[in-house]
Amino acid sequence: MSEPPKILKISTFASKSVIHGFGTRFFSLPELRDSLPSLNIITLTQIHSSKVLLNSAGEGDGVISRDPGTILVIKTADCLPVLIKDDEERIVAALHAGWKGLCKGIIFKGIAKIKNLGFNKKNLRVALGPSIGPCCYSVGKEVFECFKGNGLPFVKRGENLDLPSTAIEHLTSSGVNIKKISVLPLCTKCTPELFYSHRRGEKGRMISFIGLLKPETEVKIKL
Ligand SMILES: [Zn+2]
Repeated sequence: MSEPPKILKISTFASKSVIHGFGTRFFSLPELRDSLPSLNIITLTQIHSSKVLLNSAGEGDGVISRDPGTILVIKTADCLPVLIKDDEERIVAALHAGWKGLCKGIIFKGIAKIKNLGFNKKNLRVALGPSIGPCCYSVGKEVFECFKGNGLPFVKRGENLDLPSTAIEHLTSSGVNIKKISVLPLCTKCTPELFYSHRRGEKGRMISFIGLLKPETEVKIKL
């Protein structure tokens, strides 16, 4: 049997000067640090908020950087990891988007913050990683009430919340071109061989990352 993958990438999002990946259950933060020894790795204390930080660690659920040599990390199990860059590869961002963060408008806030730094929303490219799929995400009424109460769109499949489609709605409503959104359509709960899932009773989380590389960056494993 071949080794399971440590990292999944989206080929339409990949490029030379931006490194990105969605770790499976076989990849860890220490391994990321060992792989990129010369880089500054930013992790967050995630609190299911809509707080997006600029180039710093701390409490929040999103982080943006314009610094080559800085890698942004988001941890998720069933929530959706959202990675963003611009076409000219001068800015990157990572967002942790569960239903609470989406309902609080984390995508709108993240995109607005990037725009306020002088970037054109039409030039943004977005990759959505593995999350719990509409196949498995049964939620209570309070979830839909939250979106309605905040006047934000959401997508249902039957009585389930469709987390990736809701994120896509928020991205396009924020001004991101739908043609520049790539999705890794894997359900964390349906894919135990690759992912942790809180809905399956597991405690572990996967790490997703994105960063602008310096030309001389040393990458010790194939990412
Ligand atoms: Zn599923």
